[in-house]
Amino acid sequence: MTYDVAIVGSGFSSIALTINLLEILPPSASIAVIGDDPGFGRGTAYRTEFYLHRLNVPAARMSVFADRPDDFVDWLRARGKPVFADDFASRGDYGLYLRDTLASRLRPRERRARLDFVRAKAVACDTCPEEGITFVLDTGTELHARNVVLALGVGSAGLPISPERIDRRARRRIIDNPWRMGWFSRVKHDDEICIFGSGLTMIDQVLSLRARGHRGQIRVLSRRGLVPHPHPIRRAAPVATELPDGGEISTILHALRREVKNGADWRGVVDGLRPKTQALWQALSTHQRSRFLRHALAWWSIHRHRIAPDVFEQFNELLKDGTVKVEAGFLRSIRAADGAGLTIEYRARGEQRIVCLHADWIVNCTGMERAGIGHSPLLKEMCDRRMIAMDELGLGISVDRKSRVLDPEGEPRPGFFAAGALTAGQFWEITAVPDIRVQARDIAEAIADEVRLALPPAARIA
Ligand SMILES: Cc1cc2nc3c(=O)[nH]c(=O)nc-3n(C[C@H](O)[C@H](O)[C@H](O)COP(=O)(O)OP(=O)(O)OC[C@H]3O[C@@H](n4cnc5c(N)ncnc54)[C@H](O)[C@@H]3O)c2cc1C
Repeated sequence: MTYDVAIVGSGFSSIALTINLLEILPPSASIAVIGDDPGFGRGTAYRTEFYLHRLNVPAARMSVFADRPDDFVDWLRARGKPVFADDFASRGDYGLYLRDTLASRLRPRERRARLDFVRAKAVACDTCPEEGITFVLDTGTELHARNVVLALGVGSAGLPISPERIDRRARRRIIDNPWRMGWFSRVKHDDEICIFGSGLTMIDQVLSLRARGHRGQIRVLSRRGLVPHPHPIRRAAPVATELPDGGEISTILHALRREVKNGADWRGVVDGLRPKTQALWQALSTHQRSRFLRHALAWWSIHRHRIAPDVFEQFNELLKDGTVKVEAGFLRSIRAADGAGLTIEYRARGEQRIVCLHADWIVNCTGMERAGIGHSPLLKEMCDRRMIAMDELGLGISVDRKSRVLDPEGEPRPGFFAAGALTAGQFWEITAVPDIRVQARDIAEAIADEVRLALPPAARIA
């Protein structure tokens, strides 16, 4: 059969799209979700069951529907979880909310579009005039669809060092993907741990280790040694800063700093940018965008992606008692130590000093890949076949403002979309729920228009 829509990927972008499509597609339509993640919709972010893994966005902004902002808060309250709009719920609860929301859209079987969850990985892709796009799956079958959404997410970044600088014998003590929780069971309570990356993933992992009884020294190393800021206990009102038109990244930053100097709460200033971040990004030239990525990204991340205040407090206690130390520097080599464990060599930031550390384990918490499509054999193949192109900065794939995938000539192909962080080149601010949910609704509406147009005229009116 040929599906009306195929969504490739099974994380938040995919479930948000599916829920919207089930709401607006006619019952005659069919949707296939191709995904290798059995916990559909949860992905790395919302699969966790550890209570300290909390959302970093207040509950009132986490509804899967932009036009029904209370949906998640109502869901929590209906389950007896007292919550205020500004609270930071657990990510595990959010995963359950997504599951329940999908289930509720699946109940009226006869009045909704058909949905097939195809547990597989798409490994190759081709176009065909009658059947739209064909995906080859790792199960050895093919799947055809007239409309397609690529919602594959972006991979995790590798260690900030070339593989030749890592001693082969050291590799078994490096945890490349800390979200595969099994690694905790290999760590002894007094083991020394070195974490690369000092962002949100690092804080999650440190608190998980401590909650499991780990008490050894943890050293955190990142290029700048910057750690995310906490949200305030009482939310500061967003401040609408007047910004220069088009502008340069330095003049935008200057205007924001001036606002703070004049007495505004910096958190309010950053939050006030949120509704216009996408437009600001789109108004910047490629040169200005790349300047932002080079010079301001680390600062942006810690101010913009803040954590729940009580989670920060717990982390801060560990900093204060010295059992967790954060250092700024550039990794040079990783070797198996003469006795046991690993020797890590890095150059301290702003100095020529070379520092040697001992650790029993290295954990890669460098977070989301900001280098495009390298993680996905499917996307690489599509790129080679000129079905897609990378965006100018190599953050993901090239799409237009309607999230339509562009070919290397910059032409959109009808019915071919991408969602989520893969589209960061066009939107920048498209990695969190408040932005992806808007994009998901827009794509679902565009696809519903295509599906209705393909129906015979009588069925269109019905
Ligand atoms: C730890 C963590 C915490 C976060 N916390 C918050 C938060 O509190 N608030 C917030 O708003 N946002 C948060 N985010 C950000 C955001 O909500 C997530 O990144 C979001 O889950 C992105 O979803 P996605 O579907 O685009 O990508 P992903 O979640 O990466 O999902 C992509 C899916 O596609 C599958 N896939 C890849 N290739 C193929 C293929 N070839 N065939 C089939 N399937 C494939 C993958 O296996 C994966 O399941 C968090 C993110 C992380 C990682």
